[in-house]
Amino acid sequence: MQRATKIVVTIGPASSDEETLMRMIGAGADVVRLNFSHGKAQDHIDRATLVRKVAAACGREIAIMADLQGPKIRVGKFEQGKVQLEKGAKFILDAECELGTQDIVGLDYKELPRDLKVGDVLLLNDGLIVLVVERVQGSQIHTVVRVGGELSNNKGINRQGGGLTAAALTAKDMEDIKTAMSFKADYVAVSFPKSGTDMVMARQLANIAGEPFGHRPLMIAKIERAEAIPALQDILDHSDGIMVARGDLAVEVGNAAVPALQKRMIRMARHSNKLTITATQMMESMIVNAVPTRAEVSDVANAVLDGSDAVMTSAETASGRYPVETVEAMAAICLEAEKSENFQLDADFLNVTFSRIDQSIAYGALFTACHLRVRAIIALTESGSTALWMSRHDIDVPIYALTPNLATARKAALYRNVTAMELSQAAPSEEVLKAAQDLLLAKGLVARGDMIVVTWGEPMGQSGGTNALKIMKVGDH
Ligand code: PGA
Ligand code: MN
Repeated sequence: MQRATKIVVTIGPASSDEETLMRMIGAGADVVRLNFSHGKAQDHIDRATLVRKVAAACGREIAIMADLQGPKIRVGKFEQGKVQLEKGAKFILDAECELGTQDIVGLDYKELPRDLKVGDVLLLNDGLIVLVVERVQGSQIHTVVRVGGELSNNKGINRQGGGLTAAALTAKDMEDIKTAMSFKADYVAVSFPKSGTDMVMARQLANIAGEPFGHRPLMIAKIERAEAIPALQDILDHSDGIMVARGDLAVEVGNAAVPALQKRMIRMARHSNKLTITATQMMESMIVNAVPTRAEVSDVANAVLDGSDAVMTSAETASGRYPVETVEAMAAICLEAEKSENFQLDADFLNVTFSRIDQSIAYGALFTACHLRVRAIIALTESGSTALWMSRHDIDVPIYALTPNLATARKAALYRNVTAMELSQAAPSEEVLKAAQDLLLAKGLVARGDMIVVTWGEPMGQSGGTNALKIMKVGDH
């Protein structure tokens, strides 16, 4: 059985050597995430080069996702690197403070004092520390510690309920977009967008930066601000997909609200023909342990059942002790969860309306494949949109996106239930259909005599031109 759900792995110090990366890809990594919150531009360039090299050696199309830091608000540094905050103690956040002590620390976002009012609750270090604002005076925010703990250099700050005004793209993000386009990152993940407009801006910047390289990335909106929830449809309309970024989101809206939001977000995204990645703390305990907890196993399985295109690792693979084992475990959980899926294709189709020819063919292929119990669907595609539409519904027939366009093949590495491969389509369609079957035969993905469904566009090689569907037996062409 082939795994439908994809795995996004964040790489970092624990996983940026050739051997570990190769083993992670061998274990099932489909997309590699470069986290621009850490490291220098050159580190990301080096890692991207290594990913391309290893993917080629493995004969796999792997997507690279550049994840921008965004306007994450952080405390400054401490004299001793960290302090221990006690419940009930006074603590000052000061935009002017250079080096922190037991009583005070700096801020990287100078406007924060203007955004806050008495009684606001601030969550530091992913909510492990809670401060309540007592008064704001000039550059200083005076707080009292409600929940204490260790606070170390550069930890993040969120306000409960959201509502901080920091713009979605920082000067650093704009530089990082240029870096990411220099190595043709297939995906750009935008942190903390509040609206569709933020995504439009980010896409424009990426397209301009990608222009000299002839590259246009797909844009992923990280849903991690309270304000993004009511704006979700607007954000979806202007993005190619979303990440359920549960780390910051949980801090802003409260932990307990996240599971139901995750389900709603994935449902809305699939309905809008958009991609979804479920992220953060999925296998958290594997940072230090070789096996996941029962709760983590359930979390990954539930993300699969919710319909995520991909599940993601963060520190587990970036800085944890067991990067390869984490991917192995995730792959096994996904496969098992997929077995239990209930296909509801007919019900799924009742409320779908569309007017495009290529979309009609995509849905026709799905319906046919499902009812005839074919072995595979082959989409000969330029832009990958046919495969994307097909992958918005759960069926137990694998979809192969064969494309002459390498960038399309890499992007499709994230699409649920889609395996992408390069195939030249610069020939009469009879020859291309034969080449497509030969490719899958050679990889052992189909056998002679298997029934398959193939879609393509006449004439071949034009984006959005899918207008043909053929049901055939492998070998009879
Ligand atoms: P981050 O995003 O890891 O870049 O913070 C994911 C999240 O907030 O969950
Ligand atoms: Mn985040």
